[in-house]
Amino acid sequence: MKKFVLHLLVLSHCYVVLSLKRVCEHILEDGWLTKENVIDILQLARSCDAPRLSLVCLRMVMKDFKSISTTEAWKVMKRANPSLEQELLESVVEADSRKQERQKKIEEKKVYLQLHDAMEALLHICRDGCRTIGPRDKVLKGSQVACGFQACKGLETLIRHFSGCKSRVPGGCVHCKRMWQLLELHSRMCNEPEYCKVPLCRHFKMKMQQQSKKEEAKWKLLVSKVLAAKNAQRLFSSQRSSF
Ligand SMILES: [Zn+2]
Ligand SMILES: [Zn+2]
Ligand SMILES: [Zn+2]
Repeated sequence: MKKFVLHLLVLSHCYVVLSLKRVCEHILEDGWLTKENVIDILQLARSCDAPRLSLVCLRMVMKDFKSISTTEAWKVMKRANPSLEQELLESVVEADSRKQERQKKIEEKKVYLQLHDAMEALLHICRDGCRTIGPRDKVLKGSQVACGFQACKGLETLIRHFSGCKSRVPGGCVHCKRMWQLLELHSRMCNEPEYCKVPLCRHFKMKMQQQSKKEEAKWKLLVSKVLAAKNAQRLFSSQRSSF
């Protein structure tokens, strides 16, 4: 039967033998498609009104567009059915930009997560004094556990630089600017400025009262994105651990 599956699909469609048609579609969907025949079968699926089969074909074209678009079947289709070629090209472009969009979002999320880690580490360094890297206890003593904050090391280096930077660039060098940004972000996220030991926390809280609407909106957006990225990560890891 497999040998005649294409003919049977057409016949079962024309004579409305639905059970046979389903069997044919199933065979075709299940391991019958190749780079060489997928374009022909896509066209057949469309003319025989087999939406699932055409979707399977379409996915295959999306996945392996480069080599499928060089096949003989593609060239024939291009001549006979240029609007289908146009449609497929548009789908590929669309899928590509969706993929890029997703990638961009993932990268962005990473940056927000790093910022959140930096916020936690900053609080921990200023409040507890990091046990592993100082400033209070430079040497790790016997029973002490190494610090669990991954962001600590980088942040500690940044803080040391910040306190000793001799750069005369207006607004500070890139590292100092980064530090200013982290300190301000902390202040924006800090709920206990009265007890807070993070430098400039209260200063930024005061400054916030005189900021422009635009500035305020910008920071609010950043804070909400940082928090959202962390919440999403928490949700994700708690879901995974519940399996
Ligand atoms: Zn630490
Ligand atoms: Zn600097
Ligand atoms: Zn604070």
